[in-house]
This record gives sequence, C-alpha cells and structure tokens, in this order.
Amino acid sequence: MQTPDPDDPCAGDTDCQAALAEIYSYLDRELTIERRTIIRTHLDACSPCGDRYTFEAELRQVISMRCQESVPEALKNRIADAIRQEMQGR
Ligand SMILES: [Zn+2]
Repeated sequence: MQTPDPDDPCAGDTDCQAALAEIYSYLDRELTIERRTIIRTHLDACSPCGDRYTFEAELRQVISMRCQESVPEALKNRIADAIRQEMQGR
C-alpha cells in the first residue's frame, strides 16, 4: 500500500515508480540504452531512488558472491556501513 506523503519527494511521482519498477531490469541489464539512461539520470537526481538502487546493487553482489552460503553478519554490516557512508557523502 502506498500512502502519499507530502514530505517524501518520491510520493506520487510516476518517474520514481517507473524507476523503482525497472531497478531489477536495470541491474540485470535487460533494458535498452535509452531506458538505462532515463533511469540512471533519475537515480542520480533522486536520492531515495538512488539509495534504493545502491542497496539493491550491493545486495546483488553479495548474493552472486555467496549464493551457496548464507551471508555472514560481518559482511552484511560492512555493506550497511558502505551504504550509510554513501548516503552521508551526498
Ligand atoms: Zn525517485
């Protein structure tokens, strides 16, 4: 359920909904260059979507590296720290 929130810059923004809906296709490189450019531009301009993308991208890396095993707590913490630093750096 999505409730419109006046404090959330993404609320009710169809660009955000489209970008988030295509994050997985973007990560899987299933999109055309034109679509990728549109989404990349949005992710750079919109920090909530950009953070979401960063999180999903890091998660993908962990899963692909460690698909046979459960992810160790230390690695999860490192990723959480990296995301936090990324967010603070912007
Ligand atoms: Zn957005």
